Amino acid sequence: MKQSDLFTKTTKNSPKDEEALNARLLVRGGFVQKLMAGVYSFLPLGLRVIRNIEKIVREEMVVIGGEEISLPVLHPKANWVQTGRWDAYDTLFRFTSHYSKNEYVLGPTHEEVIAPLAKQFIFSYQDLPKYLFQIQTKFRDEKRAKSGLLRGREFLMKDLYSFHQDDADLDAYYEKVQGAYQSVFARVGLGEDTVLTFASGGSFSQYSHEFQTLLPSGEDTVYLCEKCRVAVNKEIIKEQSACPSCGNTDLQERMGAEVGNIFKLKTKYSAPFELRYRNEKGEMHEILMGCYGIGISRLMGVIVERFHDDKGIIWPESVAPFRVHLLELNSASAKDLYNALQEKGVDVLYDDTDRSAGEKFADADLLGIPLRAVISPKTDGNVEVKSRASDTTEVVSHEELIRRLVS
Ligand code: ATP
Ligand code: MG
Repeated sequence: MKQSDLFTKTTKNSPKDEEALNARLLVRGGFVQKLMAGVYSFLPLGLRVIRNIEKIVREEMVVIGGEEISLPVLHPKANWVQTGRWDAYDTLFRFTSHYSKNEYVLGPTHEEVIAPLAKQFIFSYQDLPKYLFQIQTKFRDEKRAKSGLLRGREFLMKDLYSFHQDDADLDAYYEKVQGAYQSVFARVGLGEDTVLTFASGGSFSQYSHEFQTLLPSGEDTVYLCEKCRVAVNKEIIKEQSACPSCGNTDLQERMGAEVGNIFKLKTKYSAPFELRYRNEKGEMHEILMGCYGIGISRLMGVIVERFHDDKGIIWPESVAPFRVHLLELNSASAKDLYNALQEKGVDVLYDDTDRSAGEKFADADLLGIPLRAVISPKTDGNVEVKSRASDTTEVVSHEELIRRLVS
């Protein structure tokens, strides 16, 4: 797309009302805009990144049998009373209709909707197992929303729910989800920095697991076994003070951002909604559930926290809003190369604006598109290419650039 057509423009100055680095860079680049604390609009460039993350997550969910659905965000009070969470859920947004005086919840998570829904379709062992997921906006009345996309009051989550006959089946699927999550985090560029972390399982399971991206700006404290790249969350370090994998007690205190969480719910929600199935002998049993979240919008913030320099963002290729940022400088025209790239289906942002080279380079660094291609009177029929992540430039022919981007 042509940058002159782009709805947003970049800004030099950091927004005054943002503390978090991810928000400062994303607002400056025009990826997102803050409406109020913890609530952001996703603008054309930002939505492209979100869509790329969603695509990766969706593909990995489908690999493990997930069927995609979309559940309502507006929930009746009754479902939340049924599980006791109308009172117990501390970040619940509740409100009352002015007309009917009915009370509602803006969904912070969806067990209260999916369990009664599953009851309409799962009756016997032949209907199990089932795996349902959605990518949906969630609402939570978070006390502190100062970390940009890392902690929203409105945010995007992928939530998967699984339904099983017995513990063995739930355990096996839980392992599978772990693998899928590892693939997701590897594909978005966070594989090496994201560690499986043992966390409290609540009353119904010994542990749950979080995926923590190790980051100085993360809000969680974890204890890392550097050998196994496995960690223990601070909340359970007293009962689990050694590496759960190798027994090493020399754990390193690190900060982490929780990008995903997997949980064996067992019968916690099947019980209140009487979600049962008939086994082969005709006996009724409670269905076992698992739930598995990934913070889609948080992930975008974490990627920025992890991949940037003092000039701006450095997007991993897999999530970048465009593959190449084509700049024309000093009245040279990059139009032919732009058309050729478009024709080959390469996602290209074409800076056709009438601005100085300095301004264009600063924009390219801030926006962080993985490859910069420059056409100027100096490139003499060729094009100068530079990866956002490195300082070395190289002059190649148009054909060579196209060849590299198409293969
Ligand atoms: P946290 O401890 O960070 O509040 P949580 O344990 O409440 O997270 P879950 O309820 O398990 O989170 O939600 C699943 C995923 O959704 C989390 O792993 C995280 O990536 C993301 N998430 C949770 N709360 C927020 C939020 N306020 N803003 C953005 N993402 C969030
Ligand atoms: Mg929370």
